[in-house]
Amino acid sequence: MNVKDNIIAIQKAIPNNVTLVAVSKTMSEELIMDAYNTGQRIFGENYVQELVDKQTNLPKDIQWHMIGHLQTNKVKQIASFVEFIQSVDSEKLIEEIQKQAKNKNRIINCLIEFSIAEDGSKFGFSEEEFTDFLIRNDISKYPNIRFCGVMGMGSFSDDKEISRREFRNLKTIFSNIKSRFFAEDDNFNKISMGMSNDYEIAIEEGSNVIRVGSKIFGKRIYTNKI
Ligand SMILES: *Cc1c(COP(=O)(O)O)cnc(C)c1O
Repeated sequence: MNVKDNIIAIQKAIPNNVTLVAVSKTMSEELIMDAYNTGQRIFGENYVQELVDKQTNLPKDIQWHMIGHLQTNKVKQIASFVEFIQSVDSEKLIEEIQKQAKNKNRIINCLIEFSIAEDGSKFGFSEEEFTDFLIRNDISKYPNIRFCGVMGMGSFSDDKEISRREFRNLKTIFSNIKSRFFAEDDNFNKISMGMSNDYEIAIEEGSNVIRVGSKIFGKRIYTNKI
């Protein structure tokens, strides 16, 4: 598995307006540096301790995206450096990110995660829940959060038509929320969907952020360290 060739091939194949997040969870710092040396600067991680360790050891111009379920009591550990939190899946988490970002005098870019998987296996808001949140709360209450768009994970399925339907659903959710609450806000423009197996379909359905792990780094081996 050659990380360099893999990442260059994906970069070449995707449109210019699509951001590639290299998902490096469980991968060594050496493999991350192989990707870094091709020019890749955006990396995604799922586990807080692993993210903190890698951020400490690796070049400071890497933009780290938290993409995994985030417990509120751990926001503090990443608030000083995280570039994006893509997995904002509860009101409690929104409140905590605001608090910790303010403490660090930062504005943290956030994507709202929606549970789009038809197999029901994922975290996230429903459209109704997040709409209700925005009706009850003016986003000016959260000056240290930049609401940048939406994120979703499809079902674990090889059925491309299921993935397509789920992605189409997330695009519709994005458009509804954008037009109702963020029409004037140019920051709210990201639709993060698509992973190694389905990013081409996701792009066809309007994704502009893809999160690709195994197609770059190879199969993940989970150890009990993580
Ligand atoms: C692990 C992970 C990915 C990458 O998955 P691959 O199938 O290896 O590309 C993308 N998004 C999230 C949220 C993940 O947890």
